[in-house]
Amino acid sequence: MLTVDPKIPIPLHLDVAVAARIASHLSAAYPLEACGVLIGSDSQDSRRVVDAIPVENAWPTQSEKARRFILDPQHQLRIERSLDGTGKSLIGFYHSHPDHPAEPSAFDLEAAWATYSYLIVRVSRDGAQEMRSWLLDDASARFVEQRVEQRLSDSLTPTPVGSDPTPQESAWGRDVPRGKI
Ligand SMILES: [Zn+2]
Repeated sequence: MLTVDPKIPIPLHLDVAVAARIASHLSAAYPLEACGVLIGSDSQDSRRVVDAIPVENAWPTQSEKARRFILDPQHQLRIERSLDGTGKSLIGFYHSHPDHPAEPSAFDLEAAWATYSYLIVRVSRDGAQEMRSWLLDDASARFVEQRVEQRLSDSLTPTPVGSDPTPQESAWGRDVPRGKI
């Protein structure tokens, strides 16, 4: 159940491992825009992303894929069906802005639906630079920014003594500035 009120934008909690996967997917697609869906759940005071699934950028014109994206609707539908009964739902979308700020474009505004989170990632040739999330306020037809908080996953178990730390965990530590990746 999506309950987010854009007038009181609850934070988006993003597991660091999921943030890393999003960053690597979008960086690999550079200089083209790439996109995917955010899977998670809502509670009273936060929205939590527990998974992110890449979806093909189905924009029909190859030459425009650097600045346009559209999700393959069939793929999106299959993902939504697979979530039935899991307690998780499709809570938003992510896409990249190659060499552009992580702010919604006029095109993003036109294509947006209320209640979903729109995570936008600025990517450059050096990889993902910034992640910001936005909610559509239907009444004013404007985007409201939603704070992104990166969290270590609850399911992560402590690293056993003597083993090497996972590169992904050490690269996405707790000291990442808010909103930056
Ligand atoms: Zn965009």
